[in-house]
Amino acid sequence: MSQEENLRWESCLPIGWQPLFRQLLSDLESAGIAVRVTQAKEKFGELRVYIDRPDQAAAPLIAAAEQRSTRMCQDCGAAGELMVRNHLFATLCAEHGAGFTKPLGRPMISLNLRYPKDD
Ligand SMILES: [Zn+2]
Repeated sequence: MSQEENLRWESCLPIGWQPLFRQLLSDLESAGIAVRVTQAKEKFGELRVYIDRPDQAAAPLIAAAEQRSTRMCQDCGAAGELMVRNHLFATLCAEHGAGFTKPLGRPMISLNLRYPKDD
């Protein structure tokens, strides 16, 4: 598990968040936390970083980076907020969010509940 291996996940992220991810890896390293990133991605306009095992020391640092991503344009790293267009969620600044609108609520996982029809 090396910093170089973890850095490979950077290319899976929107460009505006890549410095945030690099900062996270460097914070983990300075804290002496050796974890292997198993996935890093954008989901519903938020950064998600997964590591190979539960780690109490790493968790708050990862949570902080994920939280920061919710206010950081994923295209340029400027201040941003959650926007939506055609059901696509993204955290964007005013410039990159052109054509997007503010969502009415946080994205939710929808459950396909089926109710018996009374007919
Ligand atoms: Zn932007």
